[in-house]
Amino acid sequence: MQPEDKIIYLDNAATTYPSKEIADTYFKLTNEYFANSSSIHFLGAKSLHLLEVAKKQILNCLKMFDHEVIFTCSATESINLAIKGYCLKNSGRGKHIITSNIEHPAVSESIKFLVKYHDFEVTYLPVDEKGHISLDEFKASIKSDTILVSLMAVNNEIGSILPIKEIAEILKEYPKIAFHCDATQAIGKIDIDYQGVDLLSFSGHKFHCLKSTGALIKRKKVSLLPILDGGGQENGVRSGTVDVPLMACLAKSIRLEMENLKTNFQYIETLKKTLINYLLIHKDTYLLNSHDDNPYIVNFTLLNKKASVVVEALSKKGIMVSSASACNSKKEKESSVIYALYHDLNMAKNSIRVSFSYFNKKEDVLFLIKSLDEIIGGIK
Ligand code: PLP
Repeated sequence: MQPEDKIIYLDNAATTYPSKEIADTYFKLTNEYFANSSSIHFLGAKSLHLLEVAKKQILNCLKMFDHEVIFTCSATESINLAIKGYCLKNSGRGKHIITSNIEHPAVSESIKFLVKYHDFEVTYLPVDEKGHISLDEFKASIKSDTILVSLMAVNNEIGSILPIKEIAEILKEYPKIAFHCDATQAIGKIDIDYQGVDLLSFSGHKFHCLKSTGALIKRKKVSLLPILDGGGQENGVRSGTVDVPLMACLAKSIRLEMENLKTNFQYIETLKKTLINYLLIHKDTYLLNSHDDNPYIVNFTLLNKKASVVVEALSKKGIMVSSASACNSKKEKESSVIYALYHDLNMAKNSIRVSFSYFNKKEDVLFLIKSLDEIIGGIK
């Protein structure tokens, strides 16, 4: 095992290293803005002001001016609130949901809950081998009782980018249908137009903010049934005392990531190219599963080896990658996303995800390549 300062962290789609600047900001703000933003005294009003400034900053960064921010503790919480909260509030208008078969479990399990306990019906859009849905199939799947479309912006395992703007454009003709987008792997990384999205979910730890930061961006006129009942914070939609300094950090992280989005994208592209060139030269060993213009995630299948063995061997050399999404990898089951691409269990069990951040260096990728060569050569 490598000493921790020698660790090469290439699992940034699972979570990222918290930025020192953001951690310092939290430490500073949490002393000054400790008061409860619901308190009516001066210190409470001061916290409330910071909360409102943070929300405005997020909406400006995302260019979502018809919307409001509901702070949560995670993307999972935002997604549950968006899907269950919207569907349970609006079930009188219909009970059909459209989603894809490569969504994160926070989405797919929330939908399964509605199917199991509230008699909802769901259409799962299939994807092609590049992880793309067909817009024609999407249009054809819309029914008179459809009330929700939930599609992710960027897939967490292969990095494929879904056509969010085009989907929102199609849905303009269906004012009864709300569009929820899980943008957890996209915010601060990929430039996407979210103006047509009604409900947008994400968490901050995927872009170097602190853990337990999340938000649901909701179009003002869309109404939700609260999932957490209590003191009625966050416009009555999400009760519980808000950690105002933490959410101010979320707003600051988004601003910084947005300001540097292009530069970071171009830099990480150079890292991705180095890895992809290696994978493509060794076509008898690796099959590339990431094809989109997204440098952050590179997924490949090992054609002749077990992914779990290679991930463990890489870990012993101090290189952290994942063999499926973080949520799936501990359960030692196949990746449902890779299965959705090829319908092949062996491929779905033997894929590796390398996910980059701007903290990574070219030497990290070169060491990964060298290590893969050694490990693959060494496994009989
Ligand atoms: N959606 C996507 C696409 C993700 O990648 C993740 C985390 O991996 C989540 C949702 C859930 O995020 P969190 O664990 O921060 O709640």
